[in-house]
Amino acid sequence: MKYFSTRGEGPVSLDDALRKGIAGDGGLFLPEQLPGFEVADFAAAGTLTEIAAVLLRPFFAASALHDDLEQILAETFDFPVPTTRLPVDGRNVSLLELYHGPTAAFKDVGAGFLAACLSRLEADVESPLTILVATSGDTGGAVAAAFDQRPGMRVAVLFPDGRVSERQAHQLCCWSDNVLSLKVQGSFDDCQALVKAAMADGDLSTEHRFSSANSINIGRLLPQSTYYADASLRHFRRTGNKPGFVIPTGNLGNAFACVMAREMGLPIGPVVLATNANKTISDYFRTLEWLPRASLQTLASAMDVGDPSNMERLRKLLGDADRLRDQLGVVSVSDTEIEASIQQDFREFGLAVCPHTATATHAWRHMDPEDAQTHDWILVATAHAAKFETIVEPLIGASVPLPPELESILSRPAKAVAIDARLESLAAALRGD
Ligand SMILES: *Cc1c(COP(=O)(O)O)cnc(C)c1O
Repeated sequence: MKYFSTRGEGPVSLDDALRKGIAGDGGLFLPEQLPGFEVADFAAAGTLTEIAAVLLRPFFAASALHDDLEQILAETFDFPVPTTRLPVDGRNVSLLELYHGPTAAFKDVGAGFLAACLSRLEADVESPLTILVATSGDTGGAVAAAFDQRPGMRVAVLFPDGRVSERQAHQLCCWSDNVLSLKVQGSFDDCQALVKAAMADGDLSTEHRFSSANSINIGRLLPQSTYYADASLRHFRRTGNKPGFVIPTGNLGNAFACVMAREMGLPIGPVVLATNANKTISDYFRTLEWLPRASLQTLASAMDVGDPSNMERLRKLLGDADRLRDQLGVVSVSDTEIEASIQQDFREFGLAVCPHTATATHAWRHMDPEDAQTHDWILVATAHAAKFETIVEPLIGASVPLPPELESILSRPAKAVAIDARLESLAAALRGD
């Protein structure tokens, strides 16, 4: 299969799209054409990894990784991705638990898959590839965990010192020697600017062979579409109904993967995007004008995005807002509503949800009653509540037990190098000075 940039560049191979992340013309890679499936194509596939192998096989048709696909998927999904029924009277509503990976958030899936692919593509190269990642919390931990101890790969994680929670900081700083954790004296925007400056610096790029692992890499989207295939097929086989999904949305990577699965023919009903107070997408659907803006800080911080980059892919695939709004729902959820939803989920379901997941449970509770009745719904849980205990615990008046994966991370020793927000300081840290 060939891949093209949303802005026209191409064709490139999957392997090059994985290595590059972003296209040279600034666009995002998409396959030339999505493969089409019928439910019967998955008849012999029972488990998530078997379903994933059927779904992703065409994408790897001409890839050097073709024969490794099963192994790559087995490495990616070495944790369960269950759907659990919620106690809702007379209706079929469940939670897709994407938080059982090493850092207890759904980004573990994309990061793990990308690491498994890149480490194979780079296996025979002498100098390591350096993944640069600026993070405000979740992404950096998932990427560090995924590339930890991978031969031929190095990761530099840049995070704003003092502006991530203690638990988050620990998750960014507790890895092996191939992960360099850099606490930057500055904001998240400073970290991001540093990463951009380093990548644009010819000498530094040659010396370190920079690459990125952010959510615009096609290698993060492909594996995310597999859990929507798995959950929808299991639901359809059991009930004969196509479930709808409500998806906490920031940069639109997770939701785009669901849309992609639906376009490929998986039994998926309506898709609803739940955003926080950042309303770029809902305003677009309402006014038909795309107006990216600076992000607002909210309780669902991993969704604080004012310029969702994957909108470019969505428009390429489905069309502009006049078409998009017929195919997708969108709901913007305020911080007050997030707090109320966390409390209601705990009261009604006995379930502690994270602030991101709470946007989805809110959107489901407040949807058009007819939509709520007509469809079965799967609400997507993107992170474990224990990652956001300082927000969740006071609201529910109970402590959230640490899941085993977070407990094991928090028991490791942590170390970080402090730098100021200048390119010279980053360069020195990368050289080990
Ligand atoms: C990144 C993230 C999101 C948003 O996902 P996108 O793919 O950026 O839309 C939602 N919840 C959590 C916990 C996240 O880490």
